[in-house]
Amino acid sequence: MPEKRVFVLGSGVIGLSVALELQIRGYRVSIIARDVPPSAISETEASGTASPLDSQDWASPWAGFNWCSFAPLEDKETQRRDRATFVRWLEMVDRREVPRETMELVPFTSITKGERDFWFEDLVPDFKYIQDTSASAGFTTVTYKSFVASAPAYLAYLVSELLHPKNPSLVPVEFHQSSAFSSLAEVFSHPLLSSEKEEDVLLVNATGMGSLYLSDVADTSVYPIRGQTVLVSAPSFKAAPVCVMSLQYDEPTYVIPRGASGLVILGGTFEHDDSHRGIRQDATERILKDCLSICPQLLAHLPDYEKVIQEDPEAWRRLEVVKVNVGIRPARKGETRVELDAVKDSSGRLRPVLHAYGAGKAGYQSSVGIAQEAADWADRHFG
Ligand SMILES: Cc1cc2nc3c(=O)[nH]c(=O)nc-3n(C[C@H](O)[C@H](O)[C@H](O)COP(=O)(O)OP(=O)(O)OC[C@H]3O[C@@H](n4cnc5c(N)ncnc54)[C@H](O)[C@@H]3O)c2cc1C
Repeated sequence: MPEKRVFVLGSGVIGLSVALELQIRGYRVSIIARDVPPSAISETEASGTASPLDSQDWASPWAGFNWCSFAPLEDKETQRRDRATFVRWLEMVDRREVPRETMELVPFTSITKGERDFWFEDLVPDFKYIQDTSASAGFTTVTYKSFVASAPAYLAYLVSELLHPKNPSLVPVEFHQSSAFSSLAEVFSHPLLSSEKEEDVLLVNATGMGSLYLSDVADTSVYPIRGQTVLVSAPSFKAAPVCVMSLQYDEPTYVIPRGASGLVILGGTFEHDDSHRGIRQDATERILKDCLSICPQLLAHLPDYEKVIQEDPEAWRRLEVVKVNVGIRPARKGETRVELDAVKDSSGRLRPVLHAYGAGKAGYQSSVGIAQEAADWADRHFG
């Protein structure tokens, strides 16, 4: 097993997934981050009382989330990342490594504009094109099975794997909550890193939007995509969750159950270069109305719900809202950055940094592929 040390800066889905892949490959890994999932810090060094899951300083707690690859036919790189994630999740669900309330393979309907083909027809189970009807003319409707999950529960699952690896020969990952670093050079000066032999240390930069603000990364192609969603309780979804994504209206509309928990995320918005953290009331109403119209089963726990929806134009008000969420997706013009680089530490020496950020709207569905690619870079770096 290599005795090389990897420090991962960032504890969102990308940092955790990279740490897991490195741990599986035998590296000794520590995670340092400003925002850390609560199940990691309760076992180490909790600071403050507010749940980190309520912080809008990071994206990962706010995701829908589902697997719905956006990769066009010619984008083989993104396809490879998304495929690796789908394959891994299929194993996890088949082997019941995650509870159904956390992640579930569900019937999925996707309605997109125009005529199009999908690269993943042979990957996802039960893929079918649905013939045009008058309502869907000008759109392509496909059905298949795909994954939906609860973002906070999936983060907790990753933390648990990192702290308590099933393979006893692997070293548990250490978590350290920090304040915000102003540069990667400052991270190299942290006592955890500066006490290690310099040539043994690799730093992974998985800071999402942080890569815009860290002074020695200052990647100006990083930008925010605001996402507002509404979390509702839909008890009928416990037994039979379904996922629907539609581009039939002016704004994207989606219904993503949090596994089979009975909680469902309704969305949404994709507001480029917008990092407004407050709730927009008009968006909340529009999301509730449009989601009920693409997925009337949201009210299936009410007697005669189809009649209720037909007769009452305000039926969307009967949806049981638990919370309205706003999250900021860390996007990058061009593409997600996964590559080895070097930055100067405070003594002016060049130190190795492995970047893994900019996943935008696809951080979960590409996470396993990004992690494998980052770990391949680490293997090459340490030789
Ligand atoms: C509404 C919404 C719906 C979404 N739906 C989906 C979906 O269905 N499927 C999907 O695949 N993706 C989805 N996403 C996107 C996904 O959530 C993101 O791509 C992903 O969470 C990005 O993860 P990350 O680890 O790169 O960044 P983040 O989660 O933002 O984590 C960044 C980490 O770096 C730390 N950090 C940053 N700067 C510093 C610093 N200076 N010092 C110390 N620590 C620092 C933070 O504290 C945090 O730990 C959605 C996002 C939103 C908002």
